[in-house]
Amino acid sequence: MGALEVREGFTELYDAEPEGVWAAPGRVNLIGEHTDYNDGFVMPFALPHVTTAAVARRDDGVLRLHSADVPGAPVELRVDDLAPESDRNWTGYPAGVVWALREAGHEVTGADVHLASTVPTGAGLSSSAALEVVVALALNDLYALGLKGWQLARLCQRAENVYVGAPTGIMDQTASACCESGHALFLDTRDLSQRQIPFGLASEGLCLLVVDTRVQHAHSGGEYGRRRAGCEKGAALLGVDALRDIPHDGLDVALAGLAGEEEVARLVRHVVTEDERAERVVSLLESGDIRSIGPILTEGHASLRDDFRVSCPELDLVVDTALASGALGARMTGGGFGGSAIVLTESSDVPTLTQAIEQSFTDAGHRTPRVFEAVPSAGARRLA
Ligand code: ADP
Ligand code: MG
Repeated sequence: MGALEVREGFTELYDAEPEGVWAAPGRVNLIGEHTDYNDGFVMPFALPHVTTAAVARRDDGVLRLHSADVPGAPVELRVDDLAPESDRNWTGYPAGVVWALREAGHEVTGADVHLASTVPTGAGLSSSAALEVVVALALNDLYALGLKGWQLARLCQRAENVYVGAPTGIMDQTASACCESGHALFLDTRDLSQRQIPFGLASEGLCLLVVDTRVQHAHSGGEYGRRRAGCEKGAALLGVDALRDIPHDGLDVALAGLAGEEEVARLVRHVVTEDERAERVVSLLESGDIRSIGPILTEGHASLRDDFRVSCPELDLVVDTALASGALGARMTGGGFGGSAIVLTESSDVPTLTQAIEQSFTDAGHRTPRVFEAVPSAGARRLA
């Protein structure tokens, strides 16, 4: 969906020109899963898939929201009436951003918004963050708020946590706001310090495939909450602020201290080893050795499957089939219980791999997955 189409859509709906057009991408997480609520490391990169928004200011307190993906007229709200958990529809995300900005003391007096997206929704690729961040960036520019990417990300996270009522870490919004083309973003979720890590797949003859299983098992929300609570319990039992504080070489001692707490111990082992895997991936990428991260991705999958227990048959099938067909590494990405997996492969093997994965899904009686190449792309930006 190009800037021009979204601009034209705006003009048709609102009978006026937008003041500008902005885009914010979805993301995949390369490594560092279920670490973001443990103050640990994550490493997302932005997808070429974006949510594009045409926006104009209003000074009468009215907020009108429209998505090309949702049939019907624009939804009209009043900025003074916005209240947490009052909106269970898609409009809760952009309205939540306006609410969070105003709560933080920024004078946003209304807007007309029309948007369209190429980010698959509910596939673990963060269409919700793309939606929030594109609106936040547009309002930041139009109202000259002067907020930086990481600040917008924080406000968007607040919109999603408090206004929408969905508990999520800070990774998705930071990735959408701050990623750079050709790079992955190494983010320390404790202090939000970040580093752009070169991730030039194409020049190495490599490709990273995203496989959207197109399933989302219904219990995923409750399971997320249980994992989160289990991690908090682990930290409390071990006397640390967050599991991030357990060093990798202190893992055995920590696990010994969790005797009788089998489930918590497994969660702790995943988080501590996952942080260490993220650090190993960073050093390999910084030394230009992309191929060698493959086995680390696969290790990460085993840990999510066996210790953290958030995988599912469809995700395991992608990983097993990819590895059996010559992939360098593969793992589930995102929260789990469905959503997407990533596969690192030689570019020349993409057709064979794609075919093998699709065939395995047919054989298992699953719906055909959506397979696409993820080129590390730019973060949120103004298009026009
Ligand atoms: P994910 O972020 O992994 O795609 P979420 O459940 O967090 O999944 O967010 C998906 C929700 O975000 C959708 O159900 C919808 O409410 C909202 N959303 C995302 N993109 C759009 C869009 N382009 N138009 C309308 N709503 C959208
Ligand atoms: Mg989301």
